[in-house]
Amino acid sequence: MKILVVNCGSSSVKYQFIDMKGEKVLCKGLAERVGIEGSRLVHKVNEDKHVIEKPMKDHEEALKLILETLLDREIGVIRDLSEISAVGHRVVHGAERFASSILIDEEVMKVLEENIHLAPLHNPPNIMGIKAVQKLLPQVPNVGVFDTAFHQSMPRKAFLYPLPYEFYEKYRIRRYGFHGTSHRYVSKRAAEILGRDYYDFKVITCHLGNGASIAAIRHGKSIDTSMGFTPLEGLVMGTRSGDIDPAIVIYMQQNLSIPVEEVYNILNKKSGVLGLSKLSSDMRDIEDAAESGNEMAQLALEIYIYRIAKYIGAYTAAMNGVDAIVFTAGVGENSPYVREKVCDYLGFLGVKIDRNLNNVKGVERIVSAPDSRVAILIVPTNEELVIARDTKQIVESGIKELKLF
Ligand code: ADP
Repeated sequence: MKILVVNCGSSSVKYQFIDMKGEKVLCKGLAERVGIEGSRLVHKVNEDKHVIEKPMKDHEEALKLILETLLDREIGVIRDLSEISAVGHRVVHGAERFASSILIDEEVMKVLEENIHLAPLHNPPNIMGIKAVQKLLPQVPNVGVFDTAFHQSMPRKAFLYPLPYEFYEKYRIRRYGFHGTSHRYVSKRAAEILGRDYYDFKVITCHLGNGASIAAIRHGKSIDTSMGFTPLEGLVMGTRSGDIDPAIVIYMQQNLSIPVEEVYNILNKKSGVLGLSKLSSDMRDIEDAAESGNEMAQLALEIYIYRIAKYIGAYTAAMNGVDAIVFTAGVGENSPYVREKVCDYLGFLGVKIDRNLNNVKGVERIVSAPDSRVAILIVPTNEELVIARDTKQIVESGIKELKLF
């Protein structure tokens, strides 16, 4: 069975085409600047990279070009579209309806449309991607895998905000959490690597990419996570503020006369590591600048690391202990410095990182010292593989919904 995994952003379509026999990635790529001038498709087969510059006015045209490229005699990997058994879609927001991965039908599409208000930036391109595939590959089943689904196991004490209860009752304002596919994959993988029973295991997973979130996972269930109603809450991110006093938002509007759209823009695009350092949102730039003595970069890095350590402390309390801490995504996988400095705060838990083992980028390994009371691991995330596996399981077994916990 060969599965196409699709991840549609506002102006991009990422894809991977996976042969589930051996879980081999046959090709992958990215259509970028979709709907904007200068759109192009970057298609990779093994190490060979091909760039196709072609206008793509919307997601449907992007997916059409992706399918044509898959079929291409020279750089393609299939002879006929019937070789695509199913398509798995990353969908950002599944609201409270989806605590599972699901076969997409009309009812599911209706729920997705109804929930656009919860993820106005993310769900519309996801929906466009599904509609385009339904049109271009009408015989092929589509499966939705949601970023929020894994966190639907959170108890009420973790997901409710202390606002008047009607805001939850009437408007479903609550913590949803994101990056669930990644937290699910790396937590399970950590249990496998350590030879532990996933359902008797307390793990804190740190997904540190441009967006960043942290999750407390006890006995295979997410019991708390740092992103909230939207992906703005929690850790300090590349350009997002994470936790701030909500009164600052009102102050910006009332006292500084900043229009609401600009406040939103400041919190999402101009804050975080970029805002603090006045330099860059990219952790590589920040680390380089900090090393060469840039004080603002040093401060941004210090605040970024401090907040991760605070969340790990809080989640250890939430689970009454922790067996393992996992680092993943761009920064988590590739920054020995961030991992080491976070662990330096955690000596009180008996955490001991091995500096030599930790001195690596992008590999799966245990980096704690043998006498560390908590295991520290790097686990490169693989959301596409999880989406492909869920899609395969749903399509092969003929079920509609795959429960995640
Ligand atoms: P996204 O959330 O967009 O998927 P990624 O998981 O790719 O993001 O993470 C991007 C982040 O990873 C960037 O801040 C980038 O600087 C950081 N990163 C990548 N490689 C390194 C590295 N070698 N050292 C430090 N940070 C890195």
